[in-house]
Amino acid sequence: MGRLRENPDAVNLDDALGAVVGGKTAKVLMESFGIHTVRDLLSHYPRRYLNRGEMSDLGSLVAGEHVTVFAEVVSASAVPMRQRKGHRIEVVVTDGTGFLSLVFFGPKWIADQFKSGARGLFDGTVSVFNRTRQLTHPTRLMLAEGVDDADSQAQAKIFKYRMVPIYPATARISVWRIAQSVGLALDALSEVDDPLPENIRVPRDLMDYEQALDWIHRPPSEADALRARQRLKFDEAFILQLVLAQRRAQWRSLTATPRAGTTRGVLTDFDAVSPFALTAAQERVGSEISADLAAAHPMHRLLQGDVGSGKTLVALRAMLAVIEGGGQAALIAPTEVLAQQHAATLTALLGSLGRAGMLDGSHNAVGIELLTGSMSAAQRRDVLERIRGGSAGTAPADIVIGTHALLEPTVVFRELGLVVVDEQHRFGVEQRAALNRPLADGTRPHLLVMTATPIPRTVAMTSFGDLSVSVIDELPHGRQPISTHVIAESEQPRHVRRAWQRVHEEVTAGNKAYVVCPRIGDGISAGAEEAAESELASVVEMSGQIIDFLLPDLRIGVLHGRLPADEKRDVMRRFALDSTATDALDVLVSTTVIEVGVDVPAATVMIIMDADRFGVSQLHQLRGRVGRGSAPSLCLMFTKAPADSPSRERLSAVAATTDGFELALLDLRNRREGDVLGVSQSGHRSSLRLLEVADDEDVIVDARQAVDEVVHTDPDLTSHPILRHIVDDLRRDERADFLHKG
Ligand code: ADP
Ligand code: MG
Repeated sequence: MGRLRENPDAVNLDDALGAVVGGKTAKVLMESFGIHTVRDLLSHYPRRYLNRGEMSDLGSLVAGEHVTVFAEVVSASAVPMRQRKGHRIEVVVTDGTGFLSLVFFGPKWIADQFKSGARGLFDGTVSVFNRTRQLTHPTRLMLAEGVDDADSQAQAKIFKYRMVPIYPATARISVWRIAQSVGLALDALSEVDDPLPENIRVPRDLMDYEQALDWIHRPPSEADALRARQRLKFDEAFILQLVLAQRRAQWRSLTATPRAGTTRGVLTDFDAVSPFALTAAQERVGSEISADLAAAHPMHRLLQGDVGSGKTLVALRAMLAVIEGGGQAALIAPTEVLAQQHAATLTALLGSLGRAGMLDGSHNAVGIELLTGSMSAAQRRDVLERIRGGSAGTAPADIVIGTHALLEPTVVFRELGLVVVDEQHRFGVEQRAALNRPLADGTRPHLLVMTATPIPRTVAMTSFGDLSVSVIDELPHGRQPISTHVIAESEQPRHVRRAWQRVHEEVTAGNKAYVVCPRIGDGISAGAEEAAESELASVVEMSGQIIDFLLPDLRIGVLHGRLPADEKRDVMRRFALDSTATDALDVLVSTTVIEVGVDVPAATVMIIMDADRFGVSQLHQLRGRVGRGSAPSLCLMFTKAPADSPSRERLSAVAATTDGFELALLDLRNRREGDVLGVSQSGHRSSLRLLEVADDEDVIVDARQAVDEVVHTDPDLTSHPILRHIVDDLRRDERADFLHKG
């Protein structure tokens, strides 16, 4: 392998690149990919390989076969498409034994990339169209044809590889040059220690590290490339789990006040008057939480349960347990609408137990406070005073409900014992960090994070791997199904008319309806964005249409984020009223402000306008606003997206199931996970290259087990210095490590 083991010039993984590839190339690599060190470059893995060892003759191609061919461009042409925007680009190539068409759909300039006489490698699956064999959107690697430019020199070397690596490249640096730089680095690399302990690596039959680094870039065969990837993928999962294990250990080293007291008996009293019998899942999760609360280190628990599974009740019971134990509880909601609703819901659930200081309040009633950003200065001062402990005679604030406003340092608690964060997916890591400031006495509050977006097991083991997880896996009894239909606005005008009729029928039967639009349309957010999206349904426009002619005899309310807080509150209050009430609303036309948490059990039908504009999880959340009562519900997703488009497929998938876990997995596959450690969004490079959180469950589970083995005997990694070094490095890079903050 030409490794310079004894060479004093040999480089280490953490060395800067300049000495290996030259300053100019190093600069381009840094600017294009954020590559600084040899390690960074060697973890710029090929996306795939073109197998030069198994090249096919053009004369012998068979339809359906996956092939790599080396050929020369004969001609390239672009024809505008009739049905859609863009061009069909057809490139004819030959290798002397036959001809083949390469077909691309896209902008016209693609054709200009194929100069007649240029040669390249093309890889794809052979199909036959009009009796011509073709590759559609083949992977392609064009040869540089200059005589002695840098690209050609690089290519002359790389082209000898049996498996040609295809790297993510840019206009500034070609695949050839990247491959060449990688080759230089591999050749100059001094001996590298394997970060994986033998007792982990050997039983799993994982290739050694040095070999894997070499073969992922220069594999002798496809099978070797695969084994190299497996090894390095395991490393990613292993390091990730190691960091998480250390975080968990660090949580355990913090102190909190145990909250298991029963001085006021308020939880017992509540259970006695609560209108609901707990579901078995609520019961189980409840005891997991109370065990945590009784410990002397902070609870750090994620409570996940599908929409409507009854998380609020579980949270309330946890808060009451803490209040019994002498502490206060804070409930953080993502929006003011939801904070207001939580305040109303908790007040209603608690009944006389929630009316502290009032004549009809129980002797042990708890005080509930709502703190929002839109309060007047005087109101705010009063509320803050009660949160701080109040002056004699005022009711104490036991449960404080609010939005981000609760996180400001000006909010001083008498004795904060528990923080509950509702609908975590709207909350960033940094906000979580702010929640975990130490209290005056150095202890931390217990933390319960609730999410309605079901989290696939692998995500729970990665993004949330430092939290303990409780799952509510059953809905309260008597829930009725929600049926979902996709309605194509232009293709199905009769369905559209029928949809509005259905809304009318539901309301006539005493139920309520939501109409959700992707934008407000009040002209304020104007500018380019609003103009570009102006063909999408807006709240302002839809409510006008509904009032004027779609549902002229119904009582219509409008809700969106830019309304004044008291108006929002009033609209929500009226929409929640029984429809026999004089100022009740029948239909709520809104933006996605209702996406999370809003709970109006009488709502049985929802129309989502331009539903293709929303993501899978978002649609699932929106849909969760209906089907909360005892009547069957209906969700109608309107769309203008064309019949066979990916958007339509996504909508069909959402219509086909109400299983939140299934949809969460689908959502995960649809987008890049980004960096699950929450590390390094700015500047640093992501730590996951090969591991796919959606697809690599077995690797993640295995790695977690391996980490347990190591940490069990050596929690501080004293006898694993290389691992220690890697983990320390990663932790240093963490942008928002809430354990180190405050
Ligand atoms: P989510 O988990 O989406 O936050 P909620 O807490 O809003 O769900 O509960 C959904 C609905 O189910 C609410 O109307 C709530 O009062 C009701 N609910 C909660 N627990 C039970 C139960 N054990 N039995 C019956 N209904 C319940
Ligand atoms: Mg909720």
